[in-house]
Amino acid sequence: MKIISTEQIASGQKVMIRSSLNVSLSENGQVADELRLVRMLDTIQLVHGAGGIPILISHIKNDQGSTLQPVVDWFNNRGFKSELVANYFPYNESIDLSDSDTLYIFENLRDYPGEKANNLEFALALSNYADLYVNESFDSAHREHASIVSLPNLLPAYAGLNFAAEVEQLSKVFTPDRPFTFIIGGAKIETKAPLITKLLDLADKVFVGGALANPLLQASGQEVGKSLLPDQPIDVSNIVNHPILSLPVDFIDQDKQVITLDEVAADSNLLDIGPDSVKALELLIAESDLVIWNGPLGYFEGGYDVATNAIAECLAKTDSYTIVGGGDTLAALGSETESKINWISTGGGAMLDFIESNGELPAISVLN
Ligand code: ADP
Ligand code: MG
Repeated sequence: MKIISTEQIASGQKVMIRSSLNVSLSENGQVADELRLVRMLDTIQLVHGAGGIPILISHIKNDQGSTLQPVVDWFNNRGFKSELVANYFPYNESIDLSDSDTLYIFENLRDYPGEKANNLEFALALSNYADLYVNESFDSAHREHASIVSLPNLLPAYAGLNFAAEVEQLSKVFTPDRPFTFIIGGAKIETKAPLITKLLDLADKVFVGGALANPLLQASGQEVGKSLLPDQPIDVSNIVNHPILSLPVDFIDQDKQVITLDEVAADSNLLDIGPDSVKALELLIAESDLVIWNGPLGYFEGGYDVATNAIAECLAKTDSYTIVGGGDTLAALGSETESKINWISTGGGAMLDFIESNGELPAISVLN
């Protein structure tokens, strides 16, 4: 994978950067989560520094509509001269992208069906606007969309600085410093089961908490009461019997009472892991050289956040190398804690797919 550097950019060249501008917005329509924007500033600066003209392309999907104008405003509030470019497909030669002081942002790629359909004509039109391609959208790296897998075949293509750093950091799972502990929580066992299976091969210990633990506990014969379970039962027999799997031993129920495995009743809702489970996890973290965490350990946004906060704090303090990712996980973290984690992954679902696929995501293959 070639990484973008100043040597590859001649002055005046247009550099199309596939970006992650798909941020969440606050109620007043402003950028609410700027992590992915902040993490691409180095690449934008590199392009500007070499005299290149950055053109950002991205999708956005959120409740407030589908325009990238709030992102344009965000850049302008940070001292950029940013401009939204619309109606760029079919190719329109009258669109002027020649001002090297401007940060051009193409309007939502998904306004055009060709993006998700991976349409070659759409990719060709995009390629006509630029001299180079940079992928700085690691969180989209698992998607076979036109701007991710076709466009880089039409231009000299490079990984952006954050993209390359994500690959380097997350590749630690394949040749980890040991002991290596993976903590996985959240929900959606349907999507995370194959990943857990993979992790059982890679790690020395896999702790499963949050709602993700419920179907595993149930499969091992444990009562889980009214706790969150997948709509369709799924086969997790290869997971529950694995020797390096670790599951919670106590919980916080709907009445905020601590209950042990034996005390779970038919009307219990296991909304957080309990203090003994947290203690066991803290010991595990202290013994590990590498700890990776994805997925909250409880229903944190509903106030069942004690375990999630405790583990966040523990990871912030430990000497072990720490990597944390996941949209909801980062939302639970807070910036103070975030700054003490060795690597915060912007990858979301792509982080999990990266591990599951041995690092062979579509966006990476095309850059190689
Ligand atoms: P991430 O986005 O970090 O990958 P997920 O999307 O998989 O995480 O899951 C996050 C969701 O799981 C949150 O809404 C959280 O409240 C929920 N969750 C975690 N544990 C529980 C639980 N014990 N009961 C109900 N919901 C839970
Ligand atoms: Mg999520």
